[in-house]
Amino acid sequence: MRCHSCRRFSFSPLCGACRKLYLRPEPSIRTLPSGLNVVSLYAYDEIEPFLLTKHHPHGWFIYRILAKEAFAVLERAEHFHAVAVDDDATGGYSHTALLAKGLAKRGYRSMHGVLRAQNRVSYSGQSREFRLSNPRDFRYSGPGGIDAVLVDDIVTTGLTLQEAQGVLMRHGVNVRGAIVLADVDR
Ligand SMILES: [Zn+2]
Repeated sequence: MRCHSCRRFSFSPLCGACRKLYLRPEPSIRTLPSGLNVVSLYAYDEIEPFLLTKHHPHGWFIYRILAKEAFAVLERAEHFHAVAVDDDATGGYSHTALLAKGLAKRGYRSMHGVLRAQNRVSYSGQSREFRLSNPRDFRYSGPGGIDAVLVDDIVTTGLTLQEAQGVLMRHGVNVRGAIVLADVDR
């Protein structure tokens, strides 16, 4: 097969040279107004072409590689649950579920299908006002009384993560932070 990025022949969808070149994670923390600490591993612009693969079948391979490379720098955390933000698999697979599985390799207990959005209107290119007046309306079906981190691919305004945080807190979940691949503000 060919490397998705440089098109050279590779046994992996992303060759070793491109991983070294593009996927060197540098953790950074943004604190949202709700107090939620969001750890991102990349600036959005650095890995945008890879992030955009989530709407295509080969995104399944790319997101597994992204999770492996990005989360390798994170400390192991056996006592935290990883809650994927809206891991809906209508498109064939869920990219946030792949990220939660990646965290499971760092010791996190990954939970699937417990935080689902009722409203999936696209936020792409929309204003903060639009996002505020069209909340995701999350439903949480997991247990309370646990320590959890939210997992998503991108943080933009932070509204989605804060909404998810609020829903989990109302169910008695101790939300310790969020982990995303990329922060648009970096
Ligand atoms: Zn390559």
